[in-house]
Amino acid sequence: MSNIYRPTWAEVNLDHLWHNFEEAQKQNLTKKVIPVIKANAYGHGAIEVMKHLYDQGVRLCAVSLLEEALEIRAHFDDIDILMLGPVMESDILICSLNRIELSVYDEHIYDSVLKLGHHITCHLKVDTGMSRYGFRGVENISKVVSNLQKQKHINLKGIFTHFATADHDEMFYQKQLEQMRLILSSLKKVPPMVHVSNSSSTFKYESKIEFTTHVRLGISLYGLSLDEKKPNLKPVMSLKSRVVQVKELNPGDCVGYGATYCATEKERIAILPIGYADGWIRKNKTGHVQFHDKKYKIVGIICMDACFVKIDESVHVNDTAILFGDLVSIDDIAKRLNTINYEVVTQVSYRVPRIMI
Ligand code: PLP
Repeated sequence: MSNIYRPTWAEVNLDHLWHNFEEAQKQNLTKKVIPVIKANAYGHGAIEVMKHLYDQGVRLCAVSLLEEALEIRAHFDDIDILMLGPVMESDILICSLNRIELSVYDEHIYDSVLKLGHHITCHLKVDTGMSRYGFRGVENISKVVSNLQKQKHINLKGIFTHFATADHDEMFYQKQLEQMRLILSSLKKVPPMVHVSNSSSTFKYESKIEFTTHVRLGISLYGLSLDEKKPNLKPVMSLKSRVVQVKELNPGDCVGYGATYCATEKERIAILPIGYADGWIRKNKTGHVQFHDKKYKIVGIICMDACFVKIDESVHVNDTAILFGDLVSIDDIAKRLNTINYEVVTQVSYRVPRIMI
């Protein structure tokens, strides 16, 4: 940890990452896995994550934004980068010049790529029920596909959709899948790549889908899932911080902003150099952190750069706290905060160095 000036960091276990990738691959041997590394690889560090996948032979990925795509392109010249998110019409040329594969999700983007004087690779996004990005209407989509396929400067490489409820509502999921089947059956020539599954669908349904070539693996690449029955995954990120000071409190001494926690007897408080500016948000004040093999309660209000933990005699300055990643899981935190595991990992802020292990 030579260039870390504050003992707070997130560990990213690359063996676990690869284990998760292989789990998705094992279940779908005839399909290819597209790792989704948007939002800094769901907070894990996009460049490092892609480097590891690249070393294992992976040559494609998906991101959301053009900024993300360009950052990946700057580090990896020979991989396919699919941009899932929106693009400004004025930036389509940048995609073309950087060999970034574009999602064509509405009439404006469609018109712009038709007019583009440069070669561009596209995937048509279709909306089968989520009402987010994508074309609707079987006939309309069929026309758009065949017109794109006629253009010399356009390589219509893929067609895809995204599921709204793969993790919890099979009926809605099946309706979207059926709509996709209908759309594909209306096409004279189906583009070479067809991809529909997110993580949940990859593990639950993909092996039974006959018309796809690829899956887009996001959250489960990082060892997490929203499904009740969890696939065999290993969480990749753990969040750690070391005690920088221990305070011995006397009865009546209070802790932190607002003096919301006051000792009623002699007790010890550990100060951890992590706070809400690191993504360790104030709502975590009702949680616990781990020292050694035991959980300890957070007390007081979480500051921008620090938080307080009530400890016993066994905890000392320099001891490492695990904020999540072992006895306290990412899912435990998501549940306590009434959110989803996606939000817990993506909100670990830029201030927290990611250490690949
Ligand atoms: N595909 C698209 C279009 C997405 O927006 C996302 C994530 O939101 C994914 C795939 C990956 O989804 P998940 O993280 O659930 O695997």
